[in-house]
Amino acid sequence: MHIKGWALPAALLAVLGLAGCGDLLGSEDRGVDATALINADADEANWITHGRTYSEQRFSPLDQVNAETVGDLGLTWFADMDTARGQEATPLVIDGKLYLTTAWSKVKAFDAATGETLWEYDPEVPGETAVKACCDVVNRGLAAWGDSLFLGTLDGRLVSLDRESGAVNWEKVTVDQAQAYTVTGAPRVIDGKIIIGNGGAEFGVRGYVAAYDASSGDELWRFYTVPEGNEDESSPDYLKAAAATWNSDVLAGSDAIGGGGTVWDSMAYDPDLDLLYIGVGNGSPWNRAYRSPGEDGTGEGDNLYLSSIVAIRPKTGEYVWHYQTTPGETWDYTATQHMILADMEIDGTRRQVIMQAPKNGFFYVLDRATGEFISAESYIPQNWAEGIDENGRPIFNPETRIDETGQPALVMPGPLGGHNWHPMAFHPGEGLVYIPAFEAATVYAPEANWKPDPARGFNVGFDLGAGDLPPDLGFRREVYGSVKGKLMAWDPVAQEERWTVEFAGPWNGGLLATGGGLVFQGNSSSEFAAYDAASGNKVWSFGAQTGIVAPPITYTVDGEQYVAVLAGWGGAYAITADGGLIESQAPVRNISRLLVFKLGGEAELPPEPELASLPLDPPPSRASAETIALGKGKYARYCAVCHAPGAVGSTLLPDLRRSGALGNRQTWQAVVHDGILKDNGMVAFEGSLTKDEIEAIRAYVIQRANEDKAIEGGGQVARR
Ligand code: CA
Repeated sequence: MHIKGWALPAALLAVLGLAGCGDLLGSEDRGVDATALINADADEANWITHGRTYSEQRFSPLDQVNAETVGDLGLTWFADMDTARGQEATPLVIDGKLYLTTAWSKVKAFDAATGETLWEYDPEVPGETAVKACCDVVNRGLAAWGDSLFLGTLDGRLVSLDRESGAVNWEKVTVDQAQAYTVTGAPRVIDGKIIIGNGGAEFGVRGYVAAYDASSGDELWRFYTVPEGNEDESSPDYLKAAAATWNSDVLAGSDAIGGGGTVWDSMAYDPDLDLLYIGVGNGSPWNRAYRSPGEDGTGEGDNLYLSSIVAIRPKTGEYVWHYQTTPGETWDYTATQHMILADMEIDGTRRQVIMQAPKNGFFYVLDRATGEFISAESYIPQNWAEGIDENGRPIFNPETRIDETGQPALVMPGPLGGHNWHPMAFHPGEGLVYIPAFEAATVYAPEANWKPDPARGFNVGFDLGAGDLPPDLGFRREVYGSVKGKLMAWDPVAQEERWTVEFAGPWNGGLLATGGGLVFQGNSSSEFAAYDAASGNKVWSFGAQTGIVAPPITYTVDGEQYVAVLAGWGGAYAITADGGLIESQAPVRNISRLLVFKLGGEAELPPEPELASLPLDPPPSRASAETIALGKGKYARYCAVCHAPGAVGSTLLPDLRRSGALGNRQTWQAVVHDGILKDNGMVAFEGSLTKDEIEAIRAYVIQRANEDKAIEGGGQVARR
């Protein structure tokens, strides 16, 4: 079949049933074009764009695997990955070939039926880039157009690969690599334009999304989400409007901060309205007091377009409308979370809606043509807003506006949100959105006289050590035990929960809904499971040996249905949490591996490796209380984001309490000050920390290790 340049309208293609056949992309012409993307929903065999369709519903009509047959679902092949870090990617499947990205922005191609490796590509991201990534060295996937695949790398490159061979067609640097920009999201493609955003709002960057020509790599337009601070007559109207809601001196002054608003993950597209939707991230720094001093949060201090859904024209990058979920954002409440487009009847009228469950804990339904607010309700307990008024504006709880009070407060949700990047799914038959949600509060402690450090460290304007847990094992277990994970089925019309499955821990996987009436999800209890889409009953599960955070996909080869998920624990929660503290859950480990299932599949995983048990044997703590306090403060700002708050040891990155360098001042300085491990991601902190401060951090970690040795003994550390 010849598909390139096909002129039949989308609706006619669907009527003819042509889009449903397995070789939509044909054997002669392998191009993915606009028609194929617009009709992706009817192309049951393939998964050609990140959310399966431009509407990003993550619903597949495939139904061979259903409530009746799922008991026969078994592993048919698997592939081990060469990066034991967070795996967050959605694979693409095109005509029997499966393409995925892994941690460190690598790409791999497989025969989707047999698992045979077809090719691999490593962009060789410098290890030291890891220090710019807030939330692990992850990558969420690819875009396909023509005969090419498109990848965003952690160090900010957009790479075009030949889909058949993996050879590089071109690559283009999309960010200022001198700043702490990273790319972890999947590009999208609209009519030959590759759309990609970036991250880095914890480190002081200015967010934007840009479009690149698929054949040449030329930048076509760039849409900034926050003003530059020196807007004038010639600036775009939408940025002039935004500038009035910021303290421009802070954005444009000599100590300039980028303002944040990064577009690091979610996008969606409506081809009929020709609108591209982008989800915009949090403010930089988090503490709004340093962005809008003196504002009261009721108008000028909104800091547009932070935490907003923005609709833009994909051809030009022109602004069309926006809706701000959290005006005057100060809690890291991004609106970068997954957005789903669907049509549904609300109050007797057919509405074209866009739906999102951003970090702030409310589920939003908006009119996607106009941005008009339709409804919002809390999908998890939260305490920052008493509700959302009829205009769609939150009614703040003043005690949680820590940017205005200057006082610490326990706020729910915390910076992980009520829902993070893990994709939701929408089942059109059930009319339900499935949300991988969790409940996790945080103490936010405003930092007085804070100054940004453009070189290193979390630039958030809060004391990140304020919420550290005391050296009391029982109390720590209580706190970890209170952090709940949930799979929720949400009725977006009624704005209420239909059913909920609870998990022992938060940070469970992204979702897939199918025409077989099933919802698939991996979880932090090292399981991959299927649930009845209507009732939430668990109907099938598989022991995966590793925590799973990525969303599953499904496809067919030669008419046979497969379900695939990239397993491997990681991401923001995994690198900062002590996974051994949830008593009802085994320590979560990372075994990075693609798992592929089909009915009657009979493959078996190798035996689960033993947990390593590393001794906790620190030198005695002899430093002064003053030195330890200095080390605690510096640790919170520069170390905690990778090595866990309070140096409790994360499940993914080196546990400093058990570090061999802890007892050796010279080695410690060589690592932290000089950066001898920079290729592993541990860069030099010279310039941000003095040698005395680095020594104080060592003293603090020694003290913490001694506290924990007294309460934990040796303890098991979950590491491969
Ligand atoms: Ca953030």
